[in-house]
Amino acid sequence: MPTTRKKANPAGRRKASAIAYEISDRVALQALTRPYSPVPGAPLTRPLRIFTLDPSVSRRIGGIATVGVPYEDLEPGPVGSIFEIDPGGAPPPLQAAPLDLDHPHLLLSDGLFPSPANGQFHLQQAYAVCSLTYAAFRRALGRDIAWAGAPAVPGGRVRLRVRPFAFRGKNAFYDRAGNELSFGYYRAGKAPAGHTVPGGLIFAGLSHDIVVHETTHALLDGLRAQFHEPGNPDVLGFHEGFADLVALFLHFTHTDVLERAIRDSRGALAGATLLTDLAREFGLASSSPGRSAATRSAVDVDGVQSFASDVPAPGRRGPKAYRPGMEEHALGSLLVSAVFEAFTTVFRRKSERLLRIAGLAPESVGQAELGDALVRALAETASLLAEQFLNICIRAIDYCPPVDMGMGEYLRALVTADADVVPDDKWGYREALMRSFRRRLLFPDHVLFMTEDAVKWRGLDCTVEIPDLAFERLRFDGEPGRAAGVAELERQARALGRFVTAPETASVFHLFAGGHGLKGVEYVSPPRIESIRCARRVSPDGPILFDLVAEVLQSGTVRRGQTLFDFSGGSTIVIDPFGRVRYVIYKKLDSVDRQDLQFQAMRGRLKRYWRREGRRRVPVASLFRALHGRA
Ligand SMILES: [Zn+2]
Repeated sequence: MPTTRKKANPAGRRKASAIAYEISDRVALQALTRPYSPVPGAPLTRPLRIFTLDPSVSRRIGGIATVGVPYEDLEPGPVGSIFEIDPGGAPPPLQAAPLDLDHPHLLLSDGLFPSPANGQFHLQQAYAVCSLTYAAFRRALGRDIAWAGAPAVPGGRVRLRVRPFAFRGKNAFYDRAGNELSFGYYRAGKAPAGHTVPGGLIFAGLSHDIVVHETTHALLDGLRAQFHEPGNPDVLGFHEGFADLVALFLHFTHTDVLERAIRDSRGALAGATLLTDLAREFGLASSSPGRSAATRSAVDVDGVQSFASDVPAPGRRGPKAYRPGMEEHALGSLLVSAVFEAFTTVFRRKSERLLRIAGLAPESVGQAELGDALVRALAETASLLAEQFLNICIRAIDYCPPVDMGMGEYLRALVTADADVVPDDKWGYREALMRSFRRRLLFPDHVLFMTEDAVKWRGLDCTVEIPDLAFERLRFDGEPGRAAGVAELERQARALGRFVTAPETASVFHLFAGGHGLKGVEYVSPPRIESIRCARRVSPDGPILFDLVAEVLQSGTVRRGQTLFDFSGGSTIVIDPFGRVRYVIYKKLDSVDRQDLQFQAMRGRLKRYWRREGRRRVPVASLFRALHGRA
């Protein structure tokens, strides 16, 4: 639970019936994570070599690539503006001094050559992949993304510490309290599958997918801090699935791997295991020959032909379907396969013209050999489409409720986020998403039709305007993706707080006065302005859309029998440049059904993520360590 430090609207300045509210420390955190900015005369990117998947993938098929990491001045570590790579804990052959990527030799040679035997290279891989993941979020949302962890000193800069050699063990996790990512290493078995050396060392921190996955947990925690509360299996499943989706779509940025996969699969992306497998080496090192498998795959059907949302679910060979009580990682895989299936559907539509120009019938995909020019054209199409899908997935976070999200609500967020930026869906992105979610029985609650108008979040029935939050009243630090500073963010939060807690508007935002007397809740805390941020999105046609996105939370103490636990409700509020409220995406604090579901989950399915503290149940200290320990 974040601390709060300011009580606003003191008595006497407003009507007695206005609801008192608080401003969370998280509002100011947005100004304390300050990433690199383009410096006049400095390069935009720093070329660095990385393993595009992991050390098990041959250089010949694109296993090593030079990537352009956003340029920033670095201290040895590397330590930059948002990441701090910690070389501590390496096993004896790999112990290494901090890496100085600004050394002239490394500047002239695209960094170190990738090798698992060079301890300093592990630091380079972690820095490069973490930075590319951060850059993908920054590009999609048009703003800096703040970490959820507090600064070491009040008001100080917040960096995420990354520890590639954190511990011996087959795990990796993000930890908010320590503000760090920890990657383990372990010895492979005596007869591992794939190219792994028997008894050789396997490092989670050298796996592109695992590093992206953990960085995404940290980014998502910064965007939606309450998704850290294990009150609902869907929220944990979403954290897992979303982290894998980002890793999956970033595969498509590595051209050599992409072209190789398209050539080998003859254009059938669902059959391109180089792209669809996640964390290959980590999985293969734990598999036995003949039963080898990556840690996870984006394709969940028996037979590639079944992996297409243009055809109805084909019986037993169809995709896995949602069922209540699913395990968190199974839920995450369901989300990955639903979104990836929609991606392959749109890719097939977009590639049809290219195939016909090359004299191939679209039905021959997966069978006919493809020429070099066609492979390159298909790879360009796939790469651009993957970037668009990744943008949609990340932008949808701004349209998620602030607490207790269900998978179906993520579909609503995806459809709304995309419709806002691309009103004319001529290639059917949103239709493909709705179909592939439907094929997996991932339905949003309270939606009677799987059509865009029904699935998209509904706007307010009346005009609600907050003039103090109109674009012309906002102050920025040089560019509209960055607020002027802590004082400006707190001014915005106060303007929002005054408005949403006023007697005539509090019910629109489903907020209640603090104290006693709410259904099912023993004690209600005052509403809390949790975040207020801008979203600046560039549509494919060129226009730039600007909104403010805020979270207002309210928590209470619920009693069931002798047990007490915290329970949260609140709204995500999307505000247009004129200060008009476009969406209020809410979860009610007085929902006894949700309270019951959380209580059941805490005693049953999600018991391992909670511990007792007297009569109270509280979340375990390191959620992701527990979650990944189960994978
Ligand atoms: Zn995870």
